[in-house]
Amino acid sequence: MLSADFGNLERDTKMIDRSAAQWVHIDVMDGVFVPNISFGFPVMKPIRKATSKVLDVHLMIVEPENYVEKFVKAGADWVTFHIEATQKSLECISLIKGAGAKAGISIKPKTEVSALDGLLDKVDMVLVMSVEPGFGGQSFIPSALNKIRELDRIRKERGLEFLIQVDGGISAANAGEVFEAGADVLVAGSAVFGAQDPEQEIIKMLEA
Ligand code: ZN
Repeated sequence: MLSADFGNLERDTKMIDRSAAQWVHIDVMDGVFVPNISFGFPVMKPIRKATSKVLDVHLMIVEPENYVEKFVKAGADWVTFHIEATQKSLECISLIKGAGAKAGISIKPKTEVSALDGLLDKVDMVLVMSVEPGFGGQSFIPSALNKIRELDRIRKERGLEFLIQVDGGISAANAGEVFEAGADVLVAGSAVFGAQDPEQEIIKMLEA
């Protein structure tokens, strides 16, 4: 939703609700963890009201342990936080799950998959950032593909079931390659909202 028209949030959410997309992805930024501020709790409400699809909240905020439960109460079905943003990853995961949502953990482009040691069997999803978090409209960083492959290999070797989500610079041009590397969930912003026919663009990505 970061690339939606905030003056027409209900209209844009309803478009996603009608489309082939399965989840609505909400990027929350605090101006501290990332050099940008997006939106907070009040914006969750109209989005939650406008769609029955899965609400997927991506927290780019410091000390997420102080906020995760409030996001679940505001309607999030999934809450993902950044491992770089907290010393309390295990606490975050149990707070999210305890509040009744699925828990995801994210790594920025410069963070290695090995940083997730000891957490992969506890999360429902790993979000691989394929751009530096903070802004929409950036180009996909190709090294993300190696991380996706590595996570997919670990998941198979250890019989784990976490989903692999990829966020940043996704379009119909690279969606096929990203799925092929092992990703399950692709996040797209500007490629969708910048398209002449957003609903058609979503179908193109899913069929890539
Ligand atoms: Zn995101």
